[in-house]
Amino acid sequence: MHAAKPVCRRCGVCCRRGGPSLGRGDLPLLASGRLGPDGLVTLRRGEYVTDNVAGGVGPLAAECVKVRPGPDGRACRFFREPDACAVHADRPLQCRLLFCEAPEAVRQSYARDRLGRRDILAPGDPLAALCAQHEAETDLTRLTALCRRALAGDGGAREEVARLIRLDAAWRQLLPERAGVPPETLPFYLGRPLPQALPACRAALAPAALYKPGPSA
Ligand code: SF4
Repeated sequence: MHAAKPVCRRCGVCCRRGGPSLGRGDLPLLASGRLGPDGLVTLRRGEYVTDNVAGGVGPLAAECVKVRPGPDGRACRFFREPDACAVHADRPLQCRLLFCEAPEAVRQSYARDRLGRRDILAPGDPLAALCAQHEAETDLTRLTALCRRALAGDGGAREEVARLIRLDAAWRQLLPERAGVPPETLPFYLGRPLPQALPACRAALAPAALYKPGPSA
């Protein structure tokens, strides 16, 4: 006799850990407007995140787009206590694939089919070019290196970190003002503000008196 096949008990544990990352199978959901930029957040290349699928904490090798968290800042915005999904019929592919006791299917899909902004935005969309420009100007890998140097006492690096944070803030002000981008969609188009995406920024901008002296030349 075969053992009973384990099935998802819909306990909501995975929904409480955060919304799903989107994959190619979710493009129809995006095209239909059932899932839109105002409900998404981009986690950028180089951003330090807890990776619930691959496991561990560290910088992302490639960006991903996720369903934004709800009011508690963590659980999926579509999760309703005690254990319900408000979009169950239209839930993203990762939610359909994820079974916490057998996560291999979702791991494979995550590695192969993850969407970034360039997969979601139409090639001729002017916002795609603006996203790419913002990405290049506020590159998180470079910013991580600057933060390390600032924390080691490099005043020039500290000033550059501060400049990049001001630049990022200016982007977030100007896109709604000049391009009519709804403010609630900025986490998708620009990712999270730099101090959230990279908490090391906050440490790097702490008063210089708190720094340990760096190694002498
Ligand atoms: S979309 Fe639904 S199933 Fe997926 S994480 Fe959110 S609440 Fe859970």
